Amino acid sequence: MPLTLKKARTKIKAQEKRIKELELLVTHDHLTGLLNRRGMEEALAHHFSILSRDTCQKNNFAVLNLDLDRFKDINDTYGHHIGDEVIKYFAVTLKDLLREDYDVISRPSGDEFIVILPESNLEQAECVKRKIKDTLAANPFNADGITLSLRTSVGVATALTPDDYEIRPFKKILSLADKAMYEDKEKGRTSRG
Ligand code: GH3
Ligand code: MG
Repeated sequence: MPLTLKKARTKIKAQEKRIKELELLVTHDHLTGLLNRRGMEEALAHHFSILSRDTCQKNNFAVLNLDLDRFKDINDTYGHHIGDEVIKYFAVTLKDLLREDYDVISRPSGDEFIVILPESNLEQAECVKRKIKDTLAANPFNADGITLSLRTSVGVATALTPDDYEIRPFKKILSLADKAMYEDKEKGRTSRG
């Protein structure tokens, strides 16, 4: 092969690699490697389109909105570095608990995570919510000699309305999960005093 052609191929390969890296940056969160807000919205749009094309509407899916409780206190008390470690620990806890290559886990911002559970109804999603809370309670964060009991508030919403008849609009699913998360947070605050 002539040297110039070989050089051109090597250059193209390097550019393709760089494009893949940039694509990953656009849709992924650098701290946890999870999808970021854009990646999550793309995944949600994908599941939404499957459901919209499914005339028997069998593919209900659920969305969980999770937000760590009193996370700012951890940053303020132990520093941003430990805060970052806590976020990574929470990401790994979710990865370990959820279905690999099936459930979608994302970190849209700060201490907020959004999970998509394909082919799940409200009852199944509530079960996952319970599991996440129980796992966090049973496994405190431990690093640099610091042990922390973590708690998260979780809101659940499904793509289909309770009668399984209507598909909720894309934004409505997210806003319902968000609202439910705030209700859960308020409930936790009240019960702990
Ligand atoms: P609440 O119980 O109401 O959820 O209160 P909170 O203390 O968890 O506060 P909130 O969720 O409103 O704030 C999250 C904080 O997360 C605010 C911001 O300083 C911090 N934060 C956002 N991104 C990062 C990050 O990448 N690393 C670290 N260490 N902190 C972050
Ligand atoms: Mg929080």
